[in-house]
Amino acid sequence: MIELRCEACGSSQLNRRGSVMVCSFCGSRYVLDGNLNIRSKALTDAKLLLCYVEAEKHRQAERYLDEFQMLTKALEIDDNNPETLTKLGRCCRALGQNGKALEYYNQAIEIDPACGPAYANIGTVYILTERYAEAKAIYEKGLPHMNPSDSDYWTAYSNYTLAIGKLGDLARAELMIRELAEHGYPNCAALRRLLGLS
Ligand SMILES: [Zn+2]
Repeated sequence: MIELRCEACGSSQLNRRGSVMVCSFCGSRYVLDGNLNIRSKALTDAKLLLCYVEAEKHRQAERYLDEFQMLTKALEIDDNNPETLTKLGRCCRALGQNGKALEYYNQAIEIDPACGPAYANIGTVYILTERYAEAKAIYEKGLPHMNPSDSDYWTAYSNYTLAIGKLGDLARAELMIRELAEHGYPNCAALRRLLGLS
């Protein structure tokens, strides 16, 4: 595990995306050398960061319309930003607008094909709407862009497992659940119940 704190927003949640570490809150990027020292970095612009911080306050208070407005402001500052687009997608999902959410996630992937969180979020929409074949396909594209040392990876993997099981391959789903258990995923029993495996 790399102990790195985002210099722009202070978050300690940095995810590996290819050879780059990306701050999961603000999207600042850090390129590391072989000794895990920062070789170069691209910190998120202060104006954008302010929008994210305000948007996050609204989100935590479940004021999703206010969050949407704040994120729209962020998109006006930079309309080509996969983090903003992923946050907008998540906000639309909270507002019950799954179609719009998918549009934002897909835009994020167009800009950054290694944007793991966007794939995982698309998968969640498909799982919630019981589109299991589409869920399976998007996790197969997205999981290679996520990092198995992040818990987000295993949450996505559990949804992938659910899709595999719902599509009829219960033997494989059972093996995947064992793998999830080995990695400390907490909801294996619930997953088994959902698939009729217990
Ligand atoms: Zn950050």
